[in-house]
Amino acid sequence: DGQRVDVTANAGSIADAAEALRMGADGIGLLRTEFLFLERTTAPTEDEQFSVYNAIAETMKTLPVIVRTLDIGGDKPVPYIQMKPELNPFLGERGIRLCLNRPELFREQLRAILRAAPSGNLRIMFPMISDIAEIRQARALIEELHAELNSPPIQIGIMVEVPSAALVADVLAPEIDFFSIGTNDLTQYTLAMDRGNSALASKHDGLHPAVLRLIAQTIDAAHKFGKRADICGELGSDAAAVPILLGLGMDELSVSIPSIPTVKAQVRSLKISDLQPLAREALNCSTAQEVRELVKKHFD
Ligand code: PEP
Ligand code: MG
Repeated sequence: DGQRVDVTANAGSIADAAEALRMGADGIGLLRTEFLFLERTTAPTEDEQFSVYNAIAETMKTLPVIVRTLDIGGDKPVPYIQMKPELNPFLGERGIRLCLNRPELFREQLRAILRAAPSGNLRIMFPMISDIAEIRQARALIEELHAELNSPPIQIGIMVEVPSAALVADVLAPEIDFFSIGTNDLTQYTLAMDRGNSALASKHDGLHPAVLRLIAQTIDAAHKFGKRADICGELGSDAAAVPILLGLGMDELSVSIPSIPTVKAQVRSLKISDLQPLAREALNCSTAQEVRELVKKHFD
């Protein structure tokens, strides 16, 4: 129907960037930088990180690349970062919390990203944000580094994957350039269901109306302040979810690289004005199963 929806890639290496381009991605919606930090005994240096971010920026040229800062802790511990044993690592010192508590580690990563940014179209995204104070603290560090490096301004966004961030999205929206909804964790934290627990896999469904309401609230808050709302969780490539997400106003779907062509084909087959009433109806369903049946009925 002429409305533009970007389909971008979730990437985790230099090779992924080239492959994303080959598969027709409109950019990288989520660069998981953990690949630089995992499976090694010392932290990567600023220069090592710079050369990887720079190569990815050069590969993608003018297409946007959203670099997510380190999301370690929880299920992804590393030997050279000392952490106290945690009873509930997924509710512990994870993502932005860990970085703000280790400013040297965080500074090196941010400096590497800011130095590489002029080679392409890099943006910065913080994971696991739960309130405005974390955004302000992280932004203040970036401002300091801008002054140090004399680097140009860069877009800054946050992942919405903690329910508190979705619930106060209208408070956070003026402070950022974009939201990217991480439904893998948002579903886990909203339903209080471990995303890796196979016994719960069939119930861990991002189409649960509780999750959809948080997504809708986030998109509305973004648009109210003229900001973009993207999704980078796996729900963005679920064929039953795509019509609902577009009906709710999602601007971009960032998906796994092999899913790009099928998601693009599906997006092109849809008319957003038809999906808005469907999405509203989904918000009033009582279970994920009911939402899935509703979508099936709509397309049958
Ligand atoms: C998410 O939580 O939805 C997400 C995309 O981040 P990750 O899967 O890396 O936790
Ligand atoms: Mg996540």
